[in-house]
Amino acid sequence: MGGMLHDRVRIHVQAGAGGDGCVSFRREAHVPRGGPDGGDGGRGGHVAVLCDDSLRDLQGFRQETHYRAARGGHGQGGLRHGRQGETLTLRVPPGTEISVDGQGGELAGRRWELLADGQRATMARGGSGGKGNKHFATPTSQAPRFAERGLPGEEAWLELRLRLLADVGLVGLPNAGKSSLLAALTRAAPKIAGYPFTTLAPVLGVLEGEERQLVVADIPGLIEGASEGAGLGHDFLAHIERTRLLVHVLDMAPESSAGEGADVAANHATIERELAAHDGRLARLPRILALSKADLVSAERQAELLGQWRRRLGRDVPVLATSSATGAGVRELALELLRRVEAPGERAASGAEAGGGGGESRRAGDRGEEQQLAEHMVFRPAGASGFRVERLGPRSFAVRGKGIERLLMRFDIENTDAMAYLEGRLRRIGVLRALESEGFQRGDEIEIAGVTFELDPS
Ligand code: GDP
Ligand code: MG
Repeated sequence: MGGMLHDRVRIHVQAGAGGDGCVSFRREAHVPRGGPDGGDGGRGGHVAVLCDDSLRDLQGFRQETHYRAARGGHGQGGLRHGRQGETLTLRVPPGTEISVDGQGGELAGRRWELLADGQRATMARGGSGGKGNKHFATPTSQAPRFAERGLPGEEAWLELRLRLLADVGLVGLPNAGKSSLLAALTRAAPKIAGYPFTTLAPVLGVLEGEERQLVVADIPGLIEGASEGAGLGHDFLAHIERTRLLVHVLDMAPESSAGEGADVAANHATIERELAAHDGRLARLPRILALSKADLVSAERQAELLGQWRRRLGRDVPVLATSSATGAGVRELALELLRRVEAPGERAASGAEAGGGGGESRRAGDRGEEQQLAEHMVFRPAGASGFRVERLGPRSFAVRGKGIERLLMRFDIENTDAMAYLEGRLRRIGVLRALESEGFQRGDEIEIAGVTFELDPS
């Protein structure tokens, strides 16, 4: 029977880069060169994830593997700052676990678990924007001809994994037509057997509604297995722990099938008895009765059975005639399932507005402060600000460290103003002193993050 059935996809996410800061000087009629007024770049867009209870699988991620958020806008003259990049939000079903695949770079070791509708988390953060030249004006350097670059956004390969949990279970005798009905209702491809005792493995399918999806499970082993003393396996029970509705599939023409009692009412009673005996929780769930194989009986017989079962079961149990062979009644059954399994928004609202008309279902994401943060664990490599100095040769050194590397990415080393500023920063952080204690002399070569330059501090 194997383990739990999972839906699984691998995607690449890339947050937006920050916009670059701007080099600009004020222009005024009588001032040939005004003060610096270059605006800052905007932060790049994050890639976020949002748990949406209207979803039940990860199929939506199969068409597209790469997800990129927008970059931040560049700063402009007149102190105009660049726009922030828009967050790219990926919607996933409840129960989705997300982990970083492979090395993961900056995201290494992070993991998220989205359980409840409305939970969200930021997965990859957009790069910060660069500061405009206005920021670098000092009493001694009033016209800085440089600005910071924006930093790249975080990126990673992610693995999304979802345990498939059934909203609706199909029960019925062997040969009642459960597998066929599941195939007609959903996009699963279950094995269809001509005889009993072959469909013990759990079979799940995803029913596509206009607004949402439902997972439907064929619950075969209950009866088939019970007669052999097997019962439902642990794995299978885990799939149906959230099931809220049962469809009892009852063959209208049992005399034409092998291995089944020829009396419709007795067949119905058998299933109900077995349910009560083997699984109290399932037995207490609301039901829909699907009178199956409608194509095998006359219109008169069908009308007779529909009337008979509606009278017998009362208003609480909808009774429908279905045929997996012709598709008759399958759409009606699908709509009934989508109607009966309430959406979480409706569930929350139904208590408040008793007897109110059909409220529109609220989509996750429209509920502002109700949103909760997804459970996640973050592992941050320590010492982003630390650095160390390495001697590479007689007049050549390397400086390693995340903070230092990011600092260097900010500036154009061909720009003398930028280099003068960078030297000041390296001095203040203590990098120059560390270099000197390793034997560094003015004019020696320095390598940081793959960029080599001569450092000639004044
Ligand atoms: P299960 O044991 O309840 O899963 O039943 P299956 O879906 O495997 O169907 C049992 C047999 O009935 C198979 O031979 C199917 O082809 C047949 N069957 C199922 N549904 C229909 C139907 O709507 N019309 C007809 N004519 N045959 C059907
Ligand atoms: Mg079957």
